Amino acid sequence: MQFIDIQAQYAVLKEKMDAAIHAVLEHGQFIMGPEVAALEEEIGEYLNVKHVITCANGTDALQLLYMSYGIGQGDAVFCPDITFVATVEPACMLGAVPVFCDVETQSFNICPSSLERQVQAVIREGKYRPRAIIAVDFLGNPADYDALQVIAEKYNILLIEDAAQSFGGEYKGKKCGAFGASAASSFFPAKPLGCYGDGGAVITNDDTIADICRSLRFHGKGASKYENIRIGMNSRLDTIQAAVLRVKLKALKEFEMDRRQETAARYDDALGERFQLLNVGEGSLSAYAQYAFLARDTKERDIIAARLTEKSIPSMVYYPYPQHTLEVFKNAPTYGEKFAASNDYCARTLSIPMHPYLDKDTQDTIISAVMGATS
Ligand SMILES: *Cc1c(COP(=O)(O)O)cnc(C)c1O
Repeated sequence: MQFIDIQAQYAVLKEKMDAAIHAVLEHGQFIMGPEVAALEEEIGEYLNVKHVITCANGTDALQLLYMSYGIGQGDAVFCPDITFVATVEPACMLGAVPVFCDVETQSFNICPSSLERQVQAVIREGKYRPRAIIAVDFLGNPADYDALQVIAEKYNILLIEDAAQSFGGEYKGKKCGAFGASAASSFFPAKPLGCYGDGGAVITNDDTIADICRSLRFHGKGASKYENIRIGMNSRLDTIQAAVLRVKLKALKEFEMDRRQETAARYDDALGERFQLLNVGEGSLSAYAQYAFLARDTKERDIIAARLTEKSIPSMVYYPYPQHTLEVFKNAPTYGEKFAASNDYCARTLSIPMHPYLDKDTQDTIISAVMGATS
């Protein structure tokens, strides 16, 4: 059994996938070939957003955004205490200081009141300029954008969406990737829309930011690639990966996202009797990059994981460590925040297999193994 079964997906999409990859081999435009522009167009249409600028990976997409907004030295960047390090890492590379915020105890997304306390603490201290809120759609579940927008406006801070885990998710009728001033997503193979290597995209309705990102991903090019106007990066999506993603985007739209919802609903029904689940808000749709639940305590979580391993059922912990505890962030200011919810979450969470090709029998096997692991 696979945790995320990319081979099962390939078996279903094989004919279209092979043809799409082959077409690139035939035309030979491996960098910025026609599939790249076509994919950007198709994603923009799906998300109902004006500009999609693909790039080498999700981390670069965030970096392109941070660079295009001029985030750097002296800036405070706020993000949830539970995420992957890549959310804030590129801002730190540019000289900004990460300020972690505790998470909510239902969705485990960034907690608006912890965020506001941290913003006020930064203002009070006067050492850094509150600059950007990086909201993460944790495991695919949209953050509370209405609440975050209010804080962003009240303190005049940029709101950016890290939609790396939430491609295909929704919040109040809008697709994830369409929130905040701009968003970034990732096409790492295990994400809801993944390619066969690394890939990512900047997503924005802002014409100026889109122009700057297009320049930055191509060595800061100006009118042509040899008229360079700024220091940039080499961060483009390979044409072959764009071809792969076009096939997968179609499958995601046609049936994959529905299957993720069906699987999650069956897990919820069965596991909800015994375990705390991650709350998906009214009007939200999680993309279920991962399916997680919370055991009673670390001991129970570890017993369940061990029992699953005995039965050859893979499980993972997303994530074992809150960001504020990481060695790399030991000097980040915490302003007295206790991180009660993020510490508790990381101690109890477990993720079980979730992907669109998980049949009902396999789901039942997983469910009974989890339910039978402890009593
Ligand atoms: C995966 C991920 C990223 C980074 O994406 P890559 O394509 O791996 O660089 C950023 N933020 C979050 C929340 C992620 O899960």
